[in-house]
Amino acid sequence: MNHAKPSLAWCLGLIFAAASAGAQQPASEAADLILEHGAIRVDGGWVEALAIRQGVIIAVGDQASVRVHRGAATRIVDLAGATVVPGLHDMHVHPISAGLQQAECRFAQGTAGAQVLAAVKACVATRSRGEWVTGGQWDAASFGPQGMQLRQLDAVSPDNPVVLTDISYHSVWANSQALRLARIDRRTTNPPGGVIERDARGEPTGVLRESAAGLVRALLPLPTAAQNQQALRWSMDAMLRQGITSFTDALVDEEGLRAYAALADAGQLHQRVRACQIWRQSPRPVADSAAGFAVQRNLWARPRFQPDCVKIALDGVPTDSHTGAMLEPYVDTDGHGDERARGMLMVPAENLGAAVSAFDAAGLVVKMHAAGDGAVRAGLDAIAATRAANGDSGLRHDIAHNSFADQADLRRAKGLSATLEMSPYIWFPNPIIPDVVKAVGPERMLRWTPVRDAIDAGALVVPGSDWSVVPSVNPWLALETLVTRQRPGGGGEVLGASQRISLEQAFDLFTVNAARQMGNQGRTGRIARGMLADLLVLDRNPFRIPVTEVHLTQVRAVVIEGVLVRGELKGVGSQD
Ligand SMILES: [Zn+2]
Repeated sequence: MNHAKPSLAWCLGLIFAAASAGAQQPASEAADLILEHGAIRVDGGWVEALAIRQGVIIAVGDQASVRVHRGAATRIVDLAGATVVPGLHDMHVHPISAGLQQAECRFAQGTAGAQVLAAVKACVATRSRGEWVTGGQWDAASFGPQGMQLRQLDAVSPDNPVVLTDISYHSVWANSQALRLARIDRRTTNPPGGVIERDARGEPTGVLRESAAGLVRALLPLPTAAQNQQALRWSMDAMLRQGITSFTDALVDEEGLRAYAALADAGQLHQRVRACQIWRQSPRPVADSAAGFAVQRNLWARPRFQPDCVKIALDGVPTDSHTGAMLEPYVDTDGHGDERARGMLMVPAENLGAAVSAFDAAGLVVKMHAAGDGAVRAGLDAIAATRAANGDSGLRHDIAHNSFADQADLRRAKGLSATLEMSPYIWFPNPIIPDVVKAVGPERMLRWTPVRDAIDAGALVVPGSDWSVVPSVNPWLALETLVTRQRPGGGGEVLGASQRISLEQAFDLFTVNAARQMGNQGRTGRIARGMLADLLVLDRNPFRIPVTEVHLTQVRAVVIEGVLVRGELKGVGSQD
């Protein structure tokens, strides 16, 4: 670069060029769309109006300063006082399974055992003999003290194989037909990273955890390309309705990548999407896996679709299944044996460090499922090994869930440029909570999902719903309960009061923080001159109502890059 002083003539030339550009400014800066008379959330406060040109916000401010950008073709929308906020991000969703489940045998979370069996019986009656019946989501506590017995499931489905997912998606309950097809019996040993639960006589109960569930799931008929695309369209619309303009699909296979690319090519992909391809340990060298993921990323990437993330499961869930990897033992260890006293780590430390380093070197961001504090530590150790081997690549790898995390580990995140993704949709209303309390005891629940501690430690914290593992993808519910730590609407038990944050902080998780994690800082997450116009028009101002009403917020209109993709902008086309 040349740092020599410019000559006087050169300076005059510059001034002349600036003056002529100034003269042309009204034409070049005319807005396509002006929103006015609103309450528009910007950094540090509120403004009345904004102007958009070619999908970019070119002005924010008062009526007069924004009206300067009015040209002959500008559409002016009178917001009549409505609130406008940046589009929200959900950093952990499973949209294709959410959509496919609509056609499955469904029963609400927390359904009592007898009703679960009745629902399965009704579903079986609609299927042909031998056809698979899939569905969910059960929890062990709803079956009472006598537990889940294989003969109950066999009684309602003697001729059809059945496989039902639990509320965590980490376990399934299969009937004898399904076990037979998967060749699981009393002689079958547990697969690596999985558990076949057995009764006192050593016979399988039908409950299969983690990789053991895969033995049955592998037999299910695969959805067609058209079914995958239909499922994705349905889910993306469900998310748009709630104001989610960007999201991360936390687990895609090749068929999933194809579905996104097909919708993008058909002009049906509105949101900005990152997708994580799943890595499972195998004898294959990790460098081969990294190269394979890079091929898929480059094949299926489209505008607004970046499949540049790899997902790794470090543990399971800290429930009755005891598969979450904990630093201290579970409190209800009876019945599970010593080998699961502290849960399970799925990937040995040296393999994990080598894998994250290889993916980092290939330009891939790694998202690691870690529910227990032992798994969180293992994930951060792997990121530390990666930074030591590769230096700081600038890629922000993230630890997902962090249901339990040691203070000392939270403090490591900032220095490692590691992101902590929290799941603030899990606490209420959700039958998984009593199950977790029973397994870990009340003391560790005082810091359940330690959002406040993570923010105070300087970590980048982002939110993820984990939908459809949780029943709702509604971010307004999470925004409220991050503040209250109570059930939506308030009242009842407070879960982890020390971890409450302000609504402003909660909002930052869904906007600026998440945008940064997606690599979109400077593009999305804020309303400011120069940012892309990803905006929501709301039916109320969440910052000016009691916090216990935030979950009721409705999204009236969704604008992505200046284009209305859902709802209505009142006054579109009117000039005043
Ligand atoms: Zn998930």
